[in-house]
Amino acid sequence: MSRTLESYVGGQWGAAAGEGQPLLDAATGEEIVRLTGLPIAPSDVLAHARDKGGPALRAMTFQQRAVLLKEIALALDARKEELYELSSATGATRKESWVDIDGGIGTVFAIASRSRRGLPDDYVATDGDYEPIGKNGTFVGQHVWTPLRGALLQINAFNFPVWGALEKFAPSFVAGVPSIIKPASQTSYLTELMVRIMVESGLLPEGSLQLVVGSVGDMLDHLTGQDCVAFTGSASTAQQLRTHPAVARNSVRFGVEADSLNAAVLGPDAAPGTAEFDLYVKEVVREMTVKAGQKCTAIRRAIVPVEHQDAVVEALREKLAKVVVGDPRDASTTMGALASLHQRDEVKRSVKVLTEGARVVIGDPDEFSVASGDAVRGAFLPPLLLLAADADRAEPHEVEAFGPVATVIGYRDAAHSTELLRRGGGSLVASVFTADPSYSRQVVVEAANHHGRVMFVDATSAKESTGHGSPLPILVHGGPGRAGGGEELGGVRGVFHFLQRTALQGSPATLTAATNRWIPGAAQKTGGTHLFRRTFSELQVGDALVSEAREVTLEDVERFADLSGDHFYAHMDETAAAANPFFDGRVAHGYFVVSLAAGLFVDPAPGPVLANYGLEGLRFTTPVYPGDLLHVTLTCKQKTPRPGQEYGEVRWDANVRNQDGETVAGYDVLTLVAL
Ligand code: NAP
Repeated sequence: MSRTLESYVGGQWGAAAGEGQPLLDAATGEEIVRLTGLPIAPSDVLAHARDKGGPALRAMTFQQRAVLLKEIALALDARKEELYELSSATGATRKESWVDIDGGIGTVFAIASRSRRGLPDDYVATDGDYEPIGKNGTFVGQHVWTPLRGALLQINAFNFPVWGALEKFAPSFVAGVPSIIKPASQTSYLTELMVRIMVESGLLPEGSLQLVVGSVGDMLDHLTGQDCVAFTGSASTAQQLRTHPAVARNSVRFGVEADSLNAAVLGPDAAPGTAEFDLYVKEVVREMTVKAGQKCTAIRRAIVPVEHQDAVVEALREKLAKVVVGDPRDASTTMGALASLHQRDEVKRSVKVLTEGARVVIGDPDEFSVASGDAVRGAFLPPLLLLAADADRAEPHEVEAFGPVATVIGYRDAAHSTELLRRGGGSLVASVFTADPSYSRQVVVEAANHHGRVMFVDATSAKESTGHGSPLPILVHGGPGRAGGGEELGGVRGVFHFLQRTALQGSPATLTAATNRWIPGAAQKTGGTHLFRRTFSELQVGDALVSEAREVTLEDVERFADLSGDHFYAHMDETAAAANPFFDGRVAHGYFVVSLAAGLFVDPAPGPVLANYGLEGLRFTTPVYPGDLLHVTLTCKQKTPRPGQEYGEVRWDANVRNQDGETVAGYDVLTLVAL
């Protein structure tokens, strides 16, 4: 008998006693491990996350967690070969496992890096700028984010045992929320190995990550309003879990990534012979065969102009004929097995339902050749292409066959194609192969609302295109309606799913103290050494300088026009400027005002301020006329260390005023300042 798979809960590895359920190699049918159950009560797993993991994570700032996350990614990367070796048992070839393993680790790196750049070295993150409320500026609003004090229960699908867990772990870790990973039983042995590598790295704070293999028992009964569930799997399981009484009663945050009838559309312009037609055929083949079609994003509906549907089928036939089905360990195999015999039978059942409205034109689920592996005990299927008899019938738009299966559906005209796109009832992704920008625009206007992601492909973008089936860590993943209504990833956006947004209201001083971000009206400390002579550690939020005043002359305006080449009439022609609805006569260039302000606040000699790398939120609010007397107030607004660097980022509030005290320009200046 094989070994029993273990959970990592309460700080220990273990499994319930018992014979357990055998998990089999997808290609050979041999037993790999056995699955029993949890060695401790599910409520104790949650308690460990809340009592140990949460406090340990919240003791670090967003930046500290992001730095640690990068180290965890490095530890995984160093031992990824072990994951590749085991991954073939799931039926995936090495190339296919890349998406799961390198894709998962790459996602952790990407989230760590985006978080280091986009989140503060603080326990509280601000959401946007402050909101003025009171007329006199003594009462303002500021949205903030803070970590939930519960746990994230991840319930994952079988098809991405590594990526599926890591893409949720990474943002929740940065957010400061501990994860409990419950992988799908079928492929949980690979997630177990991944968690072992993470635990053995010694980098994980106690309780920040637990693994439950097998059933979660009654864990959902114990969820509170500070916990989250991130579910990936079928729409039917999602429906069952999101209506769980404790989830409903306690308003538990419940994210769902469910199944999806993703479409690839061949544009009306993409006739046979065009580059877009060839690219389309290649992509449909790739999506049907990678991971034997077991991808939530895989193309299920090939929506093509009805006049080209036969040409599409023939082009696909030619390419699919080259697919070699077999053991993923065999180098000549181009499509491995499905994850289990159960999965294969599910696909066959779905194909049967699909054939009520379509006929199989390529492949036979019962008659096909297997080049290697155990043809009887292995979970093999050939690529299966169907052709819809009637584009408007329900089956191809409603039945997901989670395997190497797609249906070609012919549309009459552009409007019909977008109508068919929407028939999926909400999908993760649609790809559109067209070189016609007006058709692309029509798709966005008519059908983007039914999709989480829409990828356009033409000959100019094809080479760099990341592909229909790949969710990217920097773009949101998820889709409306049937796809679950959830959203994941999206760079730093993914972190916010595990934080609570709170609208703070109070005086500028109170909210500055609460957020470590200066708000106008809060105290400013002037005097002492020039701000540009202070190091990152010496500078404090609220440190400020009020500059000397400088008069703007007509000569300044003309010299700036000559220097920059900007001779816009509002700066050069008194009569034309006065006729402009905004001005009473010639005005100074806004960019001159910004440059002048820098001349007033900069201290020129070499010092801790290393570089200015941009401005944000620049607004010119009052025209500047020759004769105006301007001065600038510069205030240290926020400090953000750059881990591993010898400098940090200082954000300054710059406020340029005229002789009447009116703000003529306001903006944030971003600088890098030595530590
Ligand atoms: P599934 O049968 O719905 O299972 C998903 C997960 O839910 C598994 O971990 C499963 O655990 C667990 N589960 C089932 N019943 C449960 C219950 N009563 N309480 C707690 N957990 C429960 O889906 P699957 O077969 O693994 O995955 C295939 C489906 O996932 C496809 O439809 C695919 O489209 C979808 N999918 C979507 C995405 C996406 O990002 N949108 C990604 C991948 C897959 P056990 O395995 O232990 O039963």
